[in-house]
Amino acid sequence: MRRLDLKKAQAARPNTIRDINRQIVLNYVREREPISRAEISRESDLQRSTISAIVEDLKAEGLVEEVGAGESTGGRRPTLLKLRTAEAIAMGVAITPTCTTIATSDLAGRIIDQEDFLTDSNAEKTLNRVNIVARDFVTKNKGTIEGVGICLPGLVDPSVGKALYIPYFQWRDLPVAEVISSAVGLPVVIDNDANSVALAELWFGRPEVNYSRDFIFVLVAEGVGTGIIFDGQVYRGQRGAAGEFGHMVVGANAPVPCSCGNDDCWEAFSSERAAIARYLRLNGGSLSSGICFPEVVDRALGGEANAKVALVETARYLGVGISNLIVGFSPEAVVVGGEIGRAWGLIESALTETIKHSVRRGLPSARILASTLGERPALRGALSLVLARKFAAAFAA
Ligand SMILES: [Zn+2]
Repeated sequence: MRRLDLKKAQAARPNTIRDINRQIVLNYVREREPISRAEISRESDLQRSTISAIVEDLKAEGLVEEVGAGESTGGRRPTLLKLRTAEAIAMGVAITPTCTTIATSDLAGRIIDQEDFLTDSNAEKTLNRVNIVARDFVTKNKGTIEGVGICLPGLVDPSVGKALYIPYFQWRDLPVAEVISSAVGLPVVIDNDANSVALAELWFGRPEVNYSRDFIFVLVAEGVGTGIIFDGQVYRGQRGAAGEFGHMVVGANAPVPCSCGNDDCWEAFSSERAAIARYLRLNGGSLSSGICFPEVVDRALGGEANAKVALVETARYLGVGISNLIVGFSPEAVVVGGEIGRAWGLIESALTETIKHSVRRGLPSARILASTLGERPALRGALSLVLARKFAAAFAA
């Protein structure tokens, strides 16, 4: 599934496949709405008649609609096109170590309905609960939802729809897609959380990110995961297992054990759990250990010194790992997402200084950006597993 590069896409000749032209038109509407047929024609070099025929098809499929009239450049005022967002089209399920969120969205990715519950470490209980909420959403929307995207915090093989290993709950070889699909009666796509969020950044992120063909998404949560976008698509490796950089060795005696059990992994130094452990240590055990990461961020933003130190130290280690990724991949950008992004103003310099220091002189560096996907990146990721398919080119362009 590859995102079309509008800058490079050439209008297909009459003897090539009509699908490519269809995706070009659809993506112009998606990225530039409201837009007229004439504007698409000027920028894409597609014939007006070709565009009109494609627009009729897209309207009939319920993907595009006409809205009012634009500015005239002489003659009649042109009719403008936008994505049709009248109804819920996708369902996303984000299963995280703490909570599970289920939501529906329209074609543009805007959330319509949402429900959360605590994730049960018993897989059957969690998936049953997902099924109940998902069936409610399907009934409520009277058949408009086309598919379900599910992301999970661990090793996932999307090609067979199985969660291979979810370390937090010790779930192994779980046929998630089959269980949900047979209960809900819709196609189900599953993927790892960081890959899903990288896909969401590619399709729905800010322009500096989604015009990059090569970038790395770093998801900081209970663990640390990475999603690699290589030439406009998620790089998966064998059985979808690429991007497990959370387990690269960056030191020794980390503040917390890694989810894999070792104490030298990147995740054990730079996850939310690592930041909490640093904060508790700085407070000399005077706090109960029940504090959650959003609270540490709130305290840091409120000016509490120990909370700031804990976050800055965590950011330094994040920077160490990111430096290694930049040296190895030379991406255009590295995007950091998760709750820690709320404290970007406090951590940015620690992060970028570490990276500047360790990326060798003469090598190109990459822009380090905070994710703009909002509070629930994993949910955006889950939804984009369904939505990106609607816009992806069937053939590389
Ligand atoms: Zn590990």
